[in-house]
Amino acid sequence: MRCLICGCKRDEGSLRDILLSDDPLCSKCRAEWMRKRIHFRIKGIPAEAFYVYNSAFSSALIQYKECGDEALRDIFLYEVRNELRRKYHGYTFLRMPSTETKRNQRGFDHLEEMLKITGIRSEAPFYKIHDFTQKQSGKTERARMETDIGVREGYRFAKKIVLFDDVITTGSTIRGALACIPVHSVKVRIAACAANAKLIKLPFQRRKDIIE
Ligand SMILES: [Zn+2]
Repeated sequence: MRCLICGCKRDEGSLRDILLSDDPLCSKCRAEWMRKRIHFRIKGIPAEAFYVYNSAFSSALIQYKECGDEALRDIFLYEVRNELRRKYHGYTFLRMPSTETKRNQRGFDHLEEMLKITGIRSEAPFYKIHDFTQKQSGKTERARMETDIGVREGYRFAKKIVLFDDVITTGSTIRGALACIPVHSVKVRIAACAANAKLIKLPFQRRKDIIE
């Protein structure tokens, strides 16, 4: 098997490569991802991420999402798949929305594909009201985005849900989704593959401020 990022032959790599040969990444590529448990809160709801959103993670995500390299789908949650399944047993994962345009360009639902390796059931009740990307948008636009997420009419939330996204940077998409949820009657958790390094550089209080 070849590493999905660098293309090296796995059986010619390190001992770890040979022993953990079902990891779709070789140990060298894996080491470039900064695995770190990041805990924070968004509007008081506990959130966690498993990697720091660094350049190696970002370029893999671009390759997967923007270049449509669907084969990369398993690399993101491979290392935490069993833990996620155990920890969120009984929860329904709700995928954060992409714009319709992006979704159509890609030809696949990137979060749905990403979650397949965990075996966790997920649903996509949210949609984006306007088509614009978070990167292009400034602070005002991001604030607008929080009110720019809708939920499908008649959708019934499960009792226990996890809002799931690939990366949390500003938290505005999650806040938008939270605004659609009856948070008092539903147990909500937030999980993402990666989060912005800013979230771990600061002491807890400041970190909380940023996201709230
Ligand atoms: Zn590699």
